[in-house]
Parts: sequence; C-alpha cells; structure tokens
Amino acid sequence: MRGLLIRDAEVEGRRCSVRVRGGLIEEIAPALTRAPGEEAFDAAGGALLPGLTDHHLHLFALAAAFSSVRCGPPDVRDRAALRAALHRTAADGHGWIRGVGYDERVAGDLDTAGLDALRADVPVRVQHRSGALWVLNSRAAERVGLTHGRHPGVERDTGGRPTGRVWRADDWLRERLPEAAVPPLTAVGDRLARHGITAVTDATPNLTARSVDALAAEADSGRLPQRLLLLGAPLRRAPGGPGAPLGTPPVARPGPVPGPWKIVLADSGLPDLTLLTEEIDAAHRLGRAVAVHTVTAVSLALLLAALEQTGVLPGDRVEHAAVVPAEAVPVVRRLGLRVVTQPGFLADRGDAFLDATPPHEHADLYRCASFLRAGVPLALSSDAPYGPLDPWSVIRAATTRRVPGGRTANPAERVTAAAALASYLSPPRSPGSPPPRLRGGSAADLVLLSVPLAVALSRPSAELVRLTVVDGRVRHARP
Ligand SMILES: [Zn+2]
Repeated sequence: MRGLLIRDAEVEGRRCSVRVRGGLIEEIAPALTRAPGEEAFDAAGGALLPGLTDHHLHLFALAAAFSSVRCGPPDVRDRAALRAALHRTAADGHGWIRGVGYDERVAGDLDTAGLDALRADVPVRVQHRSGALWVLNSRAAERVGLTHGRHPGVERDTGGRPTGRVWRADDWLRERLPEAAVPPLTAVGDRLARHGITAVTDATPNLTARSVDALAAEADSGRLPQRLLLLGAPLRRAPGGPGAPLGTPPVARPGPVPGPWKIVLADSGLPDLTLLTEEIDAAHRLGRAVAVHTVTAVSLALLLAALEQTGVLPGDRVEHAAVVPAEAVPVVRRLGLRVVTQPGFLADRGDAFLDATPPHEHADLYRCASFLRAGVPLALSSDAPYGPLDPWSVIRAATTRRVPGGRTANPAERVTAAAALASYLSPPRSPGSPPPRLRGGSAADLVLLSVPLAVALSRPSAELVRLTVVDGRVRHARP
C-alpha cells in the first residue's frame, strides 16, 4: 500500500501533518515530508476529523429508493404531478413500477381504486413515506394474490375485500414479488462517502441470511466501502459464517458485524409486556444488546417497563424516540440507555408532526437537548431513505428545528452544531459517546473538510467535505 500524507490539516485545534499507512494513522506531527510513492494532500488548514457514522439507516431500501419513482414532496406535490410521474416511468424488467415517499398531502389516503386512477396498465406499488405501508393497484394486487393473503397487515373493507393497503408486511410482500436482483450498493456507498460517512448502522429488522450475505458481498467487493453494523443480523447466526463471534467484537474492518438486536414496537400491534421482556432477555442472553424502535409515548412506556424487569445491557438503545414525555428522560438516564434519533424529520416534514400532535405534546417531539442535559448518550442519524440522508442537513435541522412551513418545533430542544456533529463522530458501537481521538495507531477512518472546524460549524454543509478515507483508502476526493 502506497500510503497517504495529509499536510497542514487542523487536528483538534492544531495544524499538523498526518501519515496514513495500512489502514492506520502512522504518525501525526507538526510537519512531515512526503515519502516516495506516497499520495499527498494539502489540507490548507481544513479540519481533519474522524469519519462520520450514520447510526440508523436502511441500505437496501436506500438503494431501491434511488431507482424508484418519488411520490411525495418536494418532487411531487399533487395528484396531477403523481399521475405524470407514474406515467413517465418505464416499468422494471418484471413489468413493475415501484414508487416511494408517498405523502397523503399529494392525493389523500391511497387505495387500489385510487392508484388505478393514476396508473392501471402495469402493476404499481407505492410505499408510504413512513415505510410502514404499501399500496397496490389492481394488477399488483392480482400478481401477489392479495385476495387470499393471510398476513394480518393486509387491510380489508367491511365486506372482507382487500383495500390494496398492506401494513408492515415487507417480508410477506417480498416473497410474492418477482425475484428482485439484490440492488448493488455502489451509488449508496458513493453518496455516503461524499457526505464524509465512513461507517453505517443498518437498522432493518430481521434480516434474512440471504440479505446478510448480500450485504457482506457488497462490503467485500468495495461497492459499499463503509464499515457496517447490522441491527437485524439474525440472533443465532453471525455474518461471516458459523463460528464467527457474536455481539462483542469491535467494528474492526469493513464488513458486516452484528450490532444490538432490532425490535420494532409497532403501534398498530404492540406486544404485551411478557412477550417483550422475553425477546429482550433472549437477545441479552446471547450477548446482544437491543435497539428498540419507539415513536409514541405508549410504546416508550412499554419499553421502559420491560427494561426495568430485564435490566439493561451496555449498548441497549432507543431508536427514534419520536415522542418522549419529560418524565421519561430521567428514567432513560437511570437505566443507562442510549438514544438514536432523527431531528432531520422536522426539517423534512415537521409541519405534519406539529399538526398531528396536540400542542401540549409538542415539547415531547424528537427531544435532543433534554437528553444531553440529562447525560444520556445521544446520537443523530438519518433513517434514510425515510428521512433525509445528508448528515450535514440533519445537523442544521438539530440546531434550528425549523419545519418547512416556518414554525420552530420546540426550540428548547435545539443543540449546538458542535454537539450535533460530535454525535455523528461517535463510534458505531457506542452512539453518543465522545468521538475517538486521532492519534498514531488509530484507525484511518477520516474526513477532511475544506475549512477549519469553527467555520464548518457556523455553516454545516456537505459541500465542505473534501476527502473521505475509510480503512486508509481514499473513497471520495474533491479537488
Ligand atoms: Zn429505521
């Protein structure tokens, strides 16, 4: 390996040169001279930071979203625009059209009849922006055998006929859809690198062995250069084959590693307390912490009650924490939980959250500052493709909490850009912990900005990312 020399970078407030070799930082010194064959970058005083981690996203859904019809704002805002978008799109190799990001503001609550009115000549499926719902047109419903579908998520009218709306049934649907080639993650890996992201946590629950193998293949091939932690890795089989250690290894090199076990508390069908404690205990017994999806006060109360019984394993995390009553914050702190949340949703569609929430609960939406004040490790993330991917836009959202219509969602929960960025710099296994220090011998997962840190914090933007290095290799460089 030729090695890499970054000269005149700002590292923890000081100007210095950093030599990278074999995936590690070899040396940091005020001035280093270029060795023969070494690739050199002049940082011109730009900040050199540990690479960013997106602590919660969905890789294959993101790849699929890149090749799907956008069915919601800002791309599509009304029925006519949606009809045009669906007609502009050529069907895939199996004759299907896949839409994503649907929002009721476009054309109300869609069902089969509503979707047929927009496009009926080919099978069309459209995903709600929340990711929890698919709507199928007549041809799509016929292809998947919706009439005889036994999944509880298949919604039916009073006469027992399917409405075309299918809730939280992705596995069921996938089995009935044409065998989709696993989408390559090249474009996703590239986009992440351009944002300075060197590690990601895939939060998709219940990954099949096939999905885990496909993710491993994307990582091995370098199409996805980022380090990869999987919340949905099967409890009893580690990626990397039988015998690979479960649960405890650090994210030592690019390639998937199982993380905390993902549990979804869907408000459409909450488990009872006993079932939930059993599932948490089962993960804990195998050395896996848990990462539990909760977006309402009710599901959060259920989770906290369950954890009071099971106890907490280091690394246990609350995902989203979209609605958190004030009295729950000290409980989260006392139990020793981490919180992985997404204030980017406020900037993306915060008007809908504010409108759908009673005013006295606005203070509970996507809390950030309360957790930091209470000493709870807090990490920001994207939940892409369901929330905006760009971490710099999420950082801006966390500092302003402005929603598209101009209101501010609970300004008391604003955090500084420094705190928001620090949470993206926290390691994949300990979201919200302090960022790793850059020193000789540490992993060369780095992002170089075009400006000093203080300037970047005053105007956070993906445009400032100049160089992204994962495991000592340059994955993105802008002249
Ligand atoms: Zn998610």
